[in-house]
Amino acid sequence: MTLVAVPLAAATADALLADTRRAHAAGADLVEWRLDTAITLGADPQALIAAIPRSPLPVLLTIRHASEKGEWSGTEEQRVALLAAADLAGAAYIDVELAHDRGWRPSRARLILSSHDFNGMGEDLAAQLVEMERRGAIAKVAVTARDAADLHQVRELLLARPGERIVLAMGEHGLPSRLLAGVWGGLLTFARLPDQAGSAPGQPAVTDLLGMYRLRQQQPSWRVLGVIGSPIAHSLSPLIHNAALAAQDVPAVYVPFRVEDPRAFWQACRDWLGGISITIPHTQELMAVVDELEPLARSIGAMNTIARDASGRTVGANTDAAAIIACVEGGLGGPVAGKTVLCLGAGGVSRAIAHALASRGARVAITNRTAERAAQLAAEVGGTALTAEQALTFPYDVLVNGTAVGMGKPLETPWPATHLRAGTVVFDTVYTPLETRLLREARAAGACTVPGLDMFIHQAAEQYRRFTGNAAPVALMRSAALARLAPVSAQA
Ligand code: NAP
Repeated sequence: MTLVAVPLAAATADALLADTRRAHAAGADLVEWRLDTAITLGADPQALIAAIPRSPLPVLLTIRHASEKGEWSGTEEQRVALLAAADLAGAAYIDVELAHDRGWRPSRARLILSSHDFNGMGEDLAAQLVEMERRGAIAKVAVTARDAADLHQVRELLLARPGERIVLAMGEHGLPSRLLAGVWGGLLTFARLPDQAGSAPGQPAVTDLLGMYRLRQQQPSWRVLGVIGSPIAHSLSPLIHNAALAAQDVPAVYVPFRVEDPRAFWQACRDWLGGISITIPHTQELMAVVDELEPLARSIGAMNTIARDASGRTVGANTDAAAIIACVEGGLGGPVAGKTVLCLGAGGVSRAIAHALASRGARVAITNRTAERAAQLAAEVGGTALTAEQALTFPYDVLVNGTAVGMGKPLETPWPATHLRAGTVVFDTVYTPLETRLLREARAAGACTVPGLDMFIHQAAEQYRRFTGNAAPVALMRSAALARLAPVSAQA
């Protein structure tokens, strides 16, 4: 079982013990007391060591050397004296850098030999790990992933000695190495208290690691799913997919991959990926590498999903298309075939709107700030391009906002309230805020409104179905998203 360690430092023993109790309550297995940082905060190291027997969790004691971004400024003799005192006081583990190992060994604690690279993936990690193990220690390397493709190396190093090593990639690109430690067989992973910064870049909150990512339940047989994009930290997809996976007890976990070079990532990691969601700016680049690309994704020119079919072949799809059809037909209460749709915008989402609805037999008109893009998209779908003025008098059944107008700006709208009509359907793809000005005004005008969150949930539900073969628990996914979005929306 992979252990969860929470790194802590405080100026007094009482404060350190209080944080240790919080880590215990949050479900951690051990705490790492960073004496070097605590000393910088003004702590008396002897007082902290004397508190070890009172810790409710096993203590990993570390006095990190300055050469590996620690704050220790004393001599090696002083450091070893403190480590020896911690050993006698009952520390469960003591960490010493491989580069500073001069042969001192604890008599009771387990020794961890470690090495850190805060700039890159280190030098010959396999040899470093073997050398640490040859010296009788638990081996730990923490490196810095420059892109998510580097995660493959972390996985290989862990799988070489399941359950025995600590191998972590720091930084946002390396985050999945921390979240997948249970699947990849890491001995230990580090997580921070939710209101603290942690001791190294990229540490997840212990509550997320144990809750959303189900570290305790993870098994080597679990499938790895995720979303790729850059940036990715804001993505709601891990939250809603993991909520669904947990509710249906599916042996899989879904993580955020911050990817800069999607082709390099795919080449390195595709063999162990069960499926991925794809978001900005990578929705086009992998279209050429899947075994099969669905026709609608090809005509839209963007792919937001790679799933595997029964024989393991990779299939590229655009689930926004199915989501848009579901939203519009849900609003209409019937098929969109034969209805007239006015699409505001000609960017990525508008391409999905126009192609998806035209493929269902809708008549599509497009207006866009940049007229040439509207003309191009209209030509692709056999629709009509309109100027802003022509659009105002266009007799639509369905109005869809595919522009970014209103996004994060509750006072902005892409369409005048005076030209909203009762009996129509108004669908805004923007979902921050949850109810945009366009939707508010359309509701007041007597139109049937469809919020952008519906599209987001539908496209995720369709991905989930493709990843797992199960119908998605849509209501659960929606409430998970709402719990995160509602406070943000209220502030907007
Ligand atoms: P995109 O490819 O960058 O296209 C942006 C579109 O908005 C273009 O048509 C652009 O017109 C127009 N636009 C931007 N600023 C404008 C302004 N100030 N005035 C008039 N038009 C403006 O972006 P996208 O990927 O299509 O995303 C568009 C929006 O869709 C996002 O902001 C997001 O809110 C929403 N979205 C929703 C979901 C969902 O699941 N609900 C998913 C993805 C996106 P030009 O061509 O003239 O630049």
